[in-house]
Amino acid sequence: MMIRFAKIVATLIAYFSEVFASEEELALKFGMFIYEPTPVEGFDLQVYRLKSERGIVGTPNPEMTTNIACFGDNNMAAKHPDWVAMSKDGPALRTNKKYNLRWDIVCNQEKQMIDYMLDIIEETADNTKGITVSSMHVADHGFCTCHRCKEAQAKSGLDRLEWRAQTVTDFIKSAKERVKNKPFYVGLLPDPVNAYERFGLDFDALAEYATAFVVPHWSKTYATPWYFETLSRSFKKLLKKPVYPGLYIRGPGDNPNELESHTQILKTACRIARTGVEGLIFLAANATYMKDFQKACVADVKLREELEGYGGKPVLDLVDKWESILA
Ligand SMILES: [Zn+2]
Repeated sequence: MMIRFAKIVATLIAYFSEVFASEEELALKFGMFIYEPTPVEGFDLQVYRLKSERGIVGTPNPEMTTNIACFGDNNMAAKHPDWVAMSKDGPALRTNKKYNLRWDIVCNQEKQMIDYMLDIIEETADNTKGITVSSMHVADHGFCTCHRCKEAQAKSGLDRLEWRAQTVTDFIKSAKERVKNKPFYVGLLPDPVNAYERFGLDFDALAEYATAFVVPHWSKTYATPWYFETLSRSFKKLLKKPVYPGLYIRGPGDNPNELESHTQILKTACRIARTGVEGLIFLAANATYMKDFQKACVADVKLREELEGYGGKPVLDLVDKWESILA
């Protein structure tokens, strides 16, 4: 009798701990990613893009986490043309139509650039809440064939792909040492399958140093949320640290007529939230665009009702929270 009773109790405990565990898993961390040092209420994680790929360095805000683009740097590429990463199909410049480069990229073996980046990372980490890095990888497949890289690879004794990935991991390891005990978010590019061959990203090796991974899922329209949900599921399966997909609201210089309204973004957010990822980050050029987005989501009662039952409850709870902040 007692044994049976104990078994029932054990079963009930197992059942409830499972229920509570899945409740806990639903607690997503929401962040915002912005190009000015202005926090916006209603997010757990406030990220300021101190240095975007334009290469201009802003003024850190001690109350925010800091994003730093590393080797994507239009400014440095213009100042030091010999630092630009190279391939047999030409340099890593926006003008090279063989690739889809949205900024100019410096070779990640250029010692002066590495030291410059690590110093910015250290100084900013000391003075702000934490660091997220982007553009810290190799430009794309076929890069880099410059003299620095050829010499360094020959010395390493590693094969080309192994050596490329090693250089990226070494940089992240050094960056982590400079960030010390603050949160350190590592930004990837949204290619779950070929990231190693293209960008030298060794997900497992990087996981050792990352607090979480930020994976941009940028789109100006989100016309087909299915693709973004699939992408989130893929990264969730592969990455050994928490995954924070990023969604695009309105970047610097965007023509609002080319952008989707809040509708598809919120729908996509709900669908990503049900994939098991741990966070979600929204990008906007400035605080005004971010607040406009919050207001539009709050005002769209019909959409919020439609999204009930999608399995993205944390996103709807977030909009409820924004409603109480804006009231
Ligand atoms: Zn190189």
